[in-house]
Amino acid sequence: MVCDCCKSRGKTWEGSDPKCAFDSEGNFLSDNWNCGTMNELRFIANEIGTVNRDDNSCGTIGYVPVDNDFAPDDFDTFGGYIVMMWYKDRGRTDNAVFMTDDETSDITIKHAELAITTYQTYRKGGRLT
Ligand SMILES: [Zn+2]
Repeated sequence: MVCDCCKSRGKTWEGSDPKCAFDSEGNFLSDNWNCGTMNELRFIANEIGTVNRDDNSCGTIGYVPVDNDFAPDDFDTFGGYIVMMWYKDRGRTDNAVFMTDDETSDITIKHAELAITTYQTYRKGGRLT
């Protein structure tokens, strides 16, 4: 599978080809490179100030909210956060999980799309700056 963000963006740089972070069933793959959706989530984390970078030890972590109020009817999920880790500003997003207050699971493209919808809706409503 290639996510919609990868499809619409294409390749806009010299160097390695993009490798989408989602398989044919929409499950996250850590073997990715410059996936449009993961780059968007990392952009959002930067925008809302939830990124911490430590190049000498821990790497970079960022998280974005997922509000289940915006979930489509066929996607039953609780609200929570997508938590991601990567190294410096490299194109690979090495790890990404979905966390609620009582469980952690793998992310899917649906979680990612819901996080993007959450950001866009919150921003319009002034809930995020
Ligand atoms: Zn992608």
